[in-house]
Amino acid sequence: MTAKEKLRTLPSVDELVREASDVPHALAVRIARRELAKLRGDVLAEAANPEDAGPRLRRALDALSQPSLRKVINATGVVLHTNLGRASLEAFEPIAGYSNLEYDLSLGKRGKRDQHLAPLLDALLERPAIVVNNNASAVYLVLHELAAGHEVIVSRGELIEIGDGFRIPDIMAQSGAILREVGATNRTTIEDYRQAISDRTRLIMRVHPSNFHMSGFSAKPSLEQLAALGREHKLPVYEDLGSGCLVDLKPWGVDEPLAQASLEAGIDLVSFSTDKLLGGPQSGIIAGENTLVQRIRRNPMYRAFRVDKLITQALEQTLRSLVFEKWNLNPTLKCLSQSPDELRARALILISQLELNAEVIQGESVLGGGSTPDQVLPAWLIAIRDPKPSRMEKHLRLGTPAVIARIENDRLVLDLRTVSPSEESELRAALESAAAQARSR
Ligand SMILES: *Cc1c(COP(=O)(O)O)cnc(C)c1O
Repeated sequence: MTAKEKLRTLPSVDELVREASDVPHALAVRIARRELAKLRGDVLAEAANPEDAGPRLRRALDALSQPSLRKVINATGVVLHTNLGRASLEAFEPIAGYSNLEYDLSLGKRGKRDQHLAPLLDALLERPAIVVNNNASAVYLVLHELAAGHEVIVSRGELIEIGDGFRIPDIMAQSGAILREVGATNRTTIEDYRQAISDRTRLIMRVHPSNFHMSGFSAKPSLEQLAALGREHKLPVYEDLGSGCLVDLKPWGVDEPLAQASLEAGIDLVSFSTDKLLGGPQSGIIAGENTLVQRIRRNPMYRAFRVDKLITQALEQTLRSLVFEKWNLNPTLKCLSQSPDELRARALILISQLELNAEVIQGESVLGGGSTPDQVLPAWLIAIRDPKPSRMEKHLRLGTPAVIARIENDRLVLDLRTVSPSEESELRAALESAAAQARSR
């Protein structure tokens, strides 16, 4: 049969939807039309047959009915994996049903959604703070409220791109503020800032370089110098901290500046993400001098950027874990706090329970998430030798829950740093089944 003849044997939409009586009729018709149109093209290109119509419709409907956002076991060792939703929300138990989001239970009348987070933020930062959708909206809101139509001084070495379209110069342009670049790419002095100040200036901005690192002949003024310059000229100084670290991670080998240190150095306003090293859901915190924070809170765009009840609740739990130093309730910090010895012990136990050719090797975990690019954490990894490692990787990825591992030197490599102990039995089962599937076909 020629492709043209085959086309004539394609079922009609009516015939096709008879096979899908378990879903709403109008939905079946819409999907059947779409699938038939695609199939027509494929049949003409001799890449499919008319009999594929039924199975294709079924697959399309099945795909639509299954959850797309699913649970993943992160065995990559990348603690803040951008593709896997940055910080893990393992400890999050969402409230189902209604909540007292904007209701004061003790007074029995309207409250503010800020009430849930403000006391915890105050305990951590000792400054007024507000929460928005992410740090990108925090940066926008700060620039828009404090400097729209006027100049913001930024060092050339800090005009960074975070990825996925977030560039400081672009967000500055959108906010209405005018970028006044100073210094050279690798060196900016306090004099460069001073000379750029004019009656058009409204803000001095410092940006954490996050995902890149400068070494060699480079320099920038200290936070104290910037703060003093701001005070001298009655200009607020704002720092976009990026990852927003609120607890000292040095004991665990991570060197990241603390938000509190910036505020203590005299920086008037800071903003940072809450789903990076803070270990929470996606949102952004703006904290600092009261009159500035209140001005930003009153900006009409704040309403567009405020966080919803799920985020409020997840962030409340995250902040409480930090206030009370309960690292076990903060999955990100739990990952960071594991010593190489602990990881090695966990890995050895796990492989002893596997009927696979596996060994424990020395390696490194990384932070990821656009923070501290050159910092790695010493670790021990599980390396599995299998005749078909890439097949195993694929079966793991397509399983339920999905397991994300990597292939290195023809071995399947898993890092338990980012696997919670409570996920280990599922991981074991997934490995056994993926190995069996890889062997069978
Ligand atoms: C990550 C980052 C941002 C963007 O934060 P989101 O919370 O992802 O919107 C902005 N600035 C810096 C310096 C960052 O590292």
